[in-house]
Amino acid sequence: MRCLPGSSALLALLALLAVGAAPAQYDYRLAPQALGNGAYVFVGALEHFTRANGGNIVNTGYIDTPAGAIVIDSGPSRLYGEQQRALIERRSGRPVARVYITHAHPDHFFGDQAYAGVPVYALPATREAIAANGDALADNLYRLVGDAMRGTQAVAPGLPAGAGRVEVGGRALQLIALAGHTDADLAVFDERSATLYAGDLVFHRRTPSTPNADLARWLAALDRLEMIPYKTLVPGHGPVLQGPEAIRETRDYLHWLDAMLREAAARGVDLPELAELPVPARFGDFAVLRAELSRSAAHLYPALETQALRRLAPDVRE
Ligand SMILES: [Zn+2]
Repeated sequence: MRCLPGSSALLALLALLAVGAAPAQYDYRLAPQALGNGAYVFVGALEHFTRANGGNIVNTGYIDTPAGAIVIDSGPSRLYGEQQRALIERRSGRPVARVYITHAHPDHFFGDQAYAGVPVYALPATREAIAANGDALADNLYRLVGDAMRGTQAVAPGLPAGAGRVEVGGRALQLIALAGHTDADLAVFDERSATLYAGDLVFHRRTPSTPNADLARWLAALDRLEMIPYKTLVPGHGPVLQGPEAIRETRDYLHWLDAMLREAAARGVDLPELAELPVPARFGDFAVLRAELSRSAAHLYPALETQALRRLAPDVRE
C-alpha cells in the first residue's frame, strides 16, 4: 500500500478539523424575564417539539431567596437543565436551594439530571409516573427533538412534595396539590411577589394538551386556582399575564371541548370527521390548535363514544 509522505501529519490535521467541525452544543439562549420581587420566568416557544426549538416549548421559572433559588420545572432536556441551573446560579450568586416539578410531562422534568445534589420535589403520583414512563417519554422526545436531547435520561424527583405552606430562605410558598391535566398537578404560589406558577393547569393563547387529562377534575382545579390571591400568573405554556384571563380562557376551552366531543359522540360522529367540525372564532388564534384538537379527540373521544353507545344500548334491546 502506497503511503504519501507526511500522511500521518495530514491525518492528524484532518482529525483536528473534524473535532473543530463537530456541531456546537445546542444553546437554548435562556433569558429570564423578571416578574418583580425576585420572581422570574423563562418563556418557551408556542410550538410543538421541533429540532429547531430543542423542546423548549415550556415556561419554567425561579424565585430568588437568600438561601438560594427555588426552581419551578427543569425543562425538556438535561442540557436545558444545565443551562438553566448555570444561569440561575450565576445571577443569584448561590447554589440552587431546591426544585419543584409541576407534573410528569416531558417538557417539564427532563432537566432534573442537571440538579444532582439539589433536593428535587414533586407530588407522589408525579414521581411514580416519571419512574414508570420516563424512559418511553425520553425515547419519544429524542425522536422529535434530536441533538438537544443528547445524554438525557429520566430522573424521578427524589422527594415528595406535600400540599401546604413552606418557607425557604424566609420566603413563603403555597404548594397547591391538584389534578386534571394529569393525575397530579402541582401549582406554586409565591406570596411575596403574588406570582402563581400554575403549571399546565393553565394555558394562555396556546391550545391545552390533554394526553392524560380528566376534564372534570381539571375544571375543578381551575376553580381552586381562581381563589388564590395572585397578581401575576405564569401559565405552563403561553405568555405571562396579570389577572384572571388565562384561567377563564382555559376553562372556556375545556368546557367547549368537553361539550363538543359529547355532542359529537351522541350524534355518532366518526373520529376522523371531528377534524372538520367548526371551532369557535375565539379559539381561532390559539397556537397549535388543529394539532392539539386532533390529539385531544384521539385521547378523549373513544371513551365518550363507548358511553354514548351504552346509553343507546337499552333502547336497542327494547
Ligand atoms: Zn407542558
